[in-house]
Amino acid sequence: MTELGASVVPPQIAQQVAESLGYFVDIHELQALAYSVIGRATGAEGGCITASAAGGLAVSVAACMTGSSLGAVESLPDTSALKRRKVVIQKGHVVDFGGLIPQMIRLTGAQVVEVGTATVCHPYQLEYALDPETAAVVYVVSHHTVQSGLLGLGDVARLAHAAGVPVVVDAASEYDLRRFAALGADLTVFSAHKFLAGPTAGIVAGRKDLVRAAYLNQTRGLGRAMKVGKEGIAGAVAALERWLHLDHRALHEAEYRRVQAFLEGLGEVRGLRSVEVPDPTGNPITRVRVYLEGPAPAQYAAALALRLRQGSPAVAVRDNEVDQGYIELDPCNLRDEEVPIVLDRIRTVAEGLSDQIGFAPEESPAGPALGHTTLGPRYSTYTPEDLPGADLDRVPWGLDQAKLARREHGLLDWPDAWLAEVETGRVAGQEEGR
Ligand SMILES: *Cc1c(COP(=O)(O)O)cnc(C)c1O
Repeated sequence: MTELGASVVPPQIAQQVAESLGYFVDIHELQALAYSVIGRATGAEGGCITASAAGGLAVSVAACMTGSSLGAVESLPDTSALKRRKVVIQKGHVVDFGGLIPQMIRLTGAQVVEVGTATVCHPYQLEYALDPETAAVVYVVSHHTVQSGLLGLGDVARLAHAAGVPVVVDAASEYDLRRFAALGADLTVFSAHKFLAGPTAGIVAGRKDLVRAAYLNQTRGLGRAMKVGKEGIAGAVAALERWLHLDHRALHEAEYRRVQAFLEGLGEVRGLRSVEVPDPTGNPITRVRVYLEGPAPAQYAAALALRLRQGSPAVAVRDNEVDQGYIELDPCNLRDEEVPIVLDRIRTVAEGLSDQIGFAPEESPAGPALGHTTLGPRYSTYTPEDLPGADLDRVPWGLDQAKLARREHGLLDWPDAWLAEVETGRVAGQEEGR
């Protein structure tokens, strides 16, 4: 998604970004506003906005090492004087999301300690690694991770908390913002620009003391090299407000109608067999998996994905498992009128390729999708019952400048005194670690 510019931003969010550029703001007050919106949206105490989810992961890890010690914040990535500088992660979570998870951890100066094997992690292996030098456990939720044999978040949180170690969850690409705090995450990192459809930004949500430590690292520590500006914060706040007022059920149903249109259209294309598949990490999305039939499905799938991407109009498909002989089509963020365009491109490219590869039509006849299981639309826990009315007309678009100027948000959750300390670099009660 990053290669595609991450997301399609709805006009109301774009408007809020544009408005924020026209005046000065009190950036701490804007972050304080974000703190409360993040709390409402995620079920955590609150949060702060970062440059990206990857940046959010780095400042979250840093927060677990430095606590509120500004001396420690400024010393990173030199961790030689810190008591806790190891970050534990299951080997099956050491993945490439477009960047490398371990590098995002190491750039804080933390030492990455991998536990278990690529496909299995036992509780005793994690327990053994949780020593007095451990600052955090990083838990990654992603279709890139190994999907079986590893410890679940509930177990990891239980074992880590028993050892007094906080858990940082990378949930950059997850739809349900409330699941992770409920399962015991101390800090969770989301992307503002994936499902949330905001501008590029990261969201760190969690325990107040750790969020503050993360914010300290964001504003006065290594996060300064990955700064988020007022436009990113304003846009992320708008995206979260929209999320809280969105009719998620209607969204899932609209997406599923696109899935059905894909299945119907692809049934007529020679050499393809399409099935519905659920999202591997439980996101409420049904996708279309398109198997390529014939003599060399892996090469055929790779060639199909490449030619679709290089064609005009360019069509990007999920191609991370082409070596298994299939591509996948994603109904998210696609406009209805784009569905026939995608179908037309797939038909043209696939039939051209199958002529070239040269298998006979009778070997893989056109016809309805074979082995087709209907999954139907899959619903998130963000259902209308759960929300303040699921009514986009009630989203408070636009920042209330009067409230911001009165520092109403800051007075609630980010006491002025503390913010003044951040500004002047004199943070009281400097306490390292958790
Ligand atoms: C997308 C993604 C990231 C990176 O998110 P950005 O906001 O682009 O930095 C990190 N981790 C996972 C699991 C992701 O899916």
